[in-house]
Amino acid sequence: MTQINTPYPATAYLTGFLRERGIDAVQADPAIALVLKLFSRSGLEAMGQRLASRFGENSAPPPSVKSFQHQLPQYLRTVEPAIRFLQGRDPMLAYRICHENFLPTGPRFQALSQLDAQFGEAEGNGLAWAFGFLGLQDRAQHLASLYIDDIADAIREGIDERFELSRYAEKLALAASSFEPLQRSLQAAPTLVDHYLDEITRELIKTHQPTVVGLTVPFPGNVYGAFRIARVIKSEWPEIKIVLGGGYVNTELRDLRDPRVFDYIDYLTLDDGERPLLCILEQLSGQRKPEQLLRTQRREQGNLVWINDPTVHDIPFRDCGTPTYDGLPLNHYLSLCELLNPMHRLWSDGRWNKLTLAHGCYWKKCSFCDVSLDYIGRYEDLDAARIVDRMEKLIAETGQSGFHFVDEAAPPKTLAALAKEILKRGLTVTWWGNIRFEKTFSPELTSLLAASGCIAVSGGLEVASDRLLKLMEKGVTVEQVARVTHAFTQAGIMVHAYLMFGFPTQTLAETIDSLERVRQLFEAGCLQSAFWHRFACTIHSPVGRHPERYGITLLPLESTFAQNDIGFEDPSGVDHDSLHPGLKKALYNYMHGMGLEEDVRTWFDFPVPKAKVPRGLVRKALSLPSAKAGKFR
Ligand code: SF4
Repeated sequence: MTQINTPYPATAYLTGFLRERGIDAVQADPAIALVLKLFSRSGLEAMGQRLASRFGENSAPPPSVKSFQHQLPQYLRTVEPAIRFLQGRDPMLAYRICHENFLPTGPRFQALSQLDAQFGEAEGNGLAWAFGFLGLQDRAQHLASLYIDDIADAIREGIDERFELSRYAEKLALAASSFEPLQRSLQAAPTLVDHYLDEITRELIKTHQPTVVGLTVPFPGNVYGAFRIARVIKSEWPEIKIVLGGGYVNTELRDLRDPRVFDYIDYLTLDDGERPLLCILEQLSGQRKPEQLLRTQRREQGNLVWINDPTVHDIPFRDCGTPTYDGLPLNHYLSLCELLNPMHRLWSDGRWNKLTLAHGCYWKKCSFCDVSLDYIGRYEDLDAARIVDRMEKLIAETGQSGFHFVDEAAPPKTLAALAKEILKRGLTVTWWGNIRFEKTFSPELTSLLAASGCIAVSGGLEVASDRLLKLMEKGVTVEQVARVTHAFTQAGIMVHAYLMFGFPTQTLAETIDSLERVRQLFEAGCLQSAFWHRFACTIHSPVGRHPERYGITLLPLESTFAQNDIGFEDPSGVDHDSLHPGLKKALYNYMHGMGLEEDVRTWFDFPVPKAKVPRGLVRKALSLPSAKAGKFR
């Protein structure tokens, strides 16, 4: 339950690695299987029956449920064609989706009427503004996505309040100091969603008959699903060993103290999974002693034990092999187009081969980031020839030439070498990924990247204030970001900026000034997309480890299960949350080219200070000679 347009890469990485070591490994994605089971004719029929028994004649169901029940026959008739269309297997259906009352419409479609009202009276003008009069496929995709969202809303509001398309029961794992709520949910009567996930688990076990199952848990929204799968396996096939790992485990479960977790799993591994998993497999086949494992926790006689043999080392990044998608149903993923933001669209639309250019982050200094953890702190790069070999292998395997480089910050030197290698081999690829807005990204380099197939980059501008950027050791200034993002835009590469507010000591006036700088960056065409994140303090970041340097006091954290985010007191006393709606509203408008001439104070419902940033700050930065902007060699 992470993305339904493309598989999460962890299983592809581990399967590729294990197979290259001669181990018989298969992978499966129960999340896409679950979505397809729910969004099928039989799934909707089952939903209709459950809703009918829950909401009797005299009860008042929520609008999403009411609309679904009212149009159930139309939903049953259209759900499978709509899914086939979103899978890209029936593109001609776009004509019917756009030109007839083919799909039933629920509350999610109300936003379209608002767009129509904004862009002209005639029905469809709003979508024409968004997609042009010729963008038939895009329009149909957007309409079909709203249709899917309406059904998902009805599931959440009528069947299982924990359900979302890209996360399931997330709340149970978010800042979960105790395993108790998860445990209780796992033991409660199953919902329809649970029932389907249990069925999928049984089918997978019967098909593959594994001796060991690895479950990857990247985010809080995957935790409950993973334990649900583990629960079925443990109760029906207790001889199968279960290993839990992944991003959530690596960040949140480093100090796990509740032995009940091991009622469901046998091993928990931290950080990169390749070597720990290999050690477990060797131990299970008698080639390794139980004390010779790496970063692994297990339960022995009711107690938790931590095993970390200092003579065992991680597999070097260059030897981790090429990921493989073999076994995943690549043409069954759904390309949704829910938001009109072009960068969000890259995330949720289309299938991308995922690759990592380097292990960790070459900068590893930002004070809000988990730099003390291995996935950021251990940097190892790879030569361009080897990366392009892996790309060619993936293109041959999947038939698809789109790549998402999933590095936290792709190194500019590697990107430059990669672009040259792609061009040297005459490869046609399309790629995007995360970067830091380094001054190395000169107009020459951004043009080279564009020529090699780069279509978009995202990077952190964070608090958009030089004082705070320095405090957070981001290593960039606003003016530098302006020049770099401008160079990308000029090269035809879309730019998305991660923005942050609520950093320790940040004042209200500084947030307003940041918004003004962001406004100018949009106005000057440096940014096409952005998103505001509220600062969160994690225990693995420099702020969490040395709060006194940032003028804050941490609140006590008592936990026997997950630990990551930690509350703190900031003497500045600013109510940052009250600013969020205004910041969001401003960005939404800027991304659509609207409101750029307005004073930034107009986006807030209460008086805020006037921005003190000179109106021409960004324009001036862009007119400066770029001699010092770093030359690409
Ligand atoms: S925020 Fe990004 S650039 Fe900064 S240390 Fe973390 S991964 Fe590196």
